[in-house]
Amino acid sequence: MGQLHVFFFPMMAHGHMIPTLDMAKLFASRGVKSTIITTPLNVHYFTKSVEKTNQLGFQMGIMTIKFPAVAAGLPEGCENSDQITSEDMIPKFFKATFMLQDPLERILDEIRPDCLVADSFFPWATHVAAKFGIPRLVFHGTGFFSLCATENTRLYKPQREVSSDDEPFLVPHLPHQIWLTKMQLSPEDRDGSETDFARLRVIMKESELSSYGVIVNSFYELEPEYADYYRNVLKRKAWHIGPVSLCNREVEDKAQRGKEATIDEHECLKWLDSKEPNSVVYICFGSVAKFDDSQLFEIAMGLESSGQQFIWVVRRDKGDVQNEGWLPEGFEERTKDMGFIIRGWAPQVLILDHEAVGGFVTHCGWNSILEGLSVGVPMVTWPVFAEQFYNEKLVTEILRIGISVGNLKWSMTVNSGVKREAIGKAVRKVTVGEEAEEMRSKAREFKEMAKKAIEEGGSSHGDLNDLIQQLTSYRP
Ligand code: UDP
Repeated sequence: MGQLHVFFFPMMAHGHMIPTLDMAKLFASRGVKSTIITTPLNVHYFTKSVEKTNQLGFQMGIMTIKFPAVAAGLPEGCENSDQITSEDMIPKFFKATFMLQDPLERILDEIRPDCLVADSFFPWATHVAAKFGIPRLVFHGTGFFSLCATENTRLYKPQREVSSDDEPFLVPHLPHQIWLTKMQLSPEDRDGSETDFARLRVIMKESELSSYGVIVNSFYELEPEYADYYRNVLKRKAWHIGPVSLCNREVEDKAQRGKEATIDEHECLKWLDSKEPNSVVYICFGSVAKFDDSQLFEIAMGLESSGQQFIWVVRRDKGDVQNEGWLPEGFEERTKDMGFIIRGWAPQVLILDHEAVGGFVTHCGWNSILEGLSVGVPMVTWPVFAEQFYNEKLVTEILRIGISVGNLKWSMTVNSGVKREAIGKAVRKVTVGEEAEEMRSKAREFKEMAKKAIEEGGSSHGDLNDLIQQLTSYRP
């Protein structure tokens, strides 16, 4: 029997493509042939890593399917969620992904891999794979805690029992007491409205339940009660194999994740080398979250008043000087000895991994949280949308390695309202003082556990072995 061949098909969004690439590399490093499926304009995000993996003697490839942007009503060339600039483009983007069914079916028929790991946003993939007797694994891109907490919120709808948007409700039946407000939920979870997205969620769940199982980028020791709850109470067949970002060991691998960095990574490292351990705060809100000018202005003022050294990533174009109303006048000149702004894309893992970084202000995207705790830094949590408000609860109340900046409202588009005083205070609290030290020492324990989990004998290493074995014996 030949080599096991697995297809990996991520959603066209950096927060999904980055961990899927890492996952594919992990499988390849265990002797599996890994093929990434993506669309033409996303290929370049994968090529370097795939070439490098092949040079190391492992088997990895890329196959493309055309993204029907125009047919779905999107502008030509819009193939990645980071090109979505208005709310009306979101349903069109999903419509285009639904049109990927037929081309995927054709390549599955032609190549007949042994397994398809497809994004949870592609619910139709289970059925398409089943046509050829191929097991489909679901990849959500988030951890066990938020999978369990969102499921129970949707199952038991405790939000219906409160009389206002800011009255807390208890998420029922979880191993911990987790309180949320309606404001922290997505619009469809908040009101139970029958939106397209709510309907998509229903099909996503059905497809997950009829799939071969779920692959989770997490490690058992991080959220053991929830890994158990997901499997034993919610009855999902799941394998945890993370943190997958830890497969990147060399500077080059840590620097080249997602887009090309808009800063020279060596310059960045040189600057960090000149700083004391744990003295710099890194601020970044992932690849999708959008902040209003007024909010960016408050962040700048908060940072300056915190007196802490910083690297702040702002997803605004370099050179767009006419549109820099978000930046207080003279800010960069005044703070040039304290820190700097990266306009565009940062080599995040490389920066976080530097010993000078002592705190991380994060939007609580799951990849960012895992990357932060894998290097042992305490966090300021600033959730924005998706499942980020759940992730915040894990970090601040269960793991206790972070403090909340106090953003109260879920929003995909309007993010403003957190004041400079709250920002400055949170940044100081996470960098200096007794509380920072306590959180840092806990975060370091998770760092060690994460490292062990992916090493031989570790829980994630073992689960990946088990999964590969099961897929091998599933073959006809
Ligand atoms: N990222 C990066 N540089 C940036 C912004 C993001 O390398 O300037 C990476 C980050 O390391 C993470 C991913 O992009 O791996 C973002 O995923 P996450 O789940 O944190 O957030 P999302 O972008 O999905 O909201």
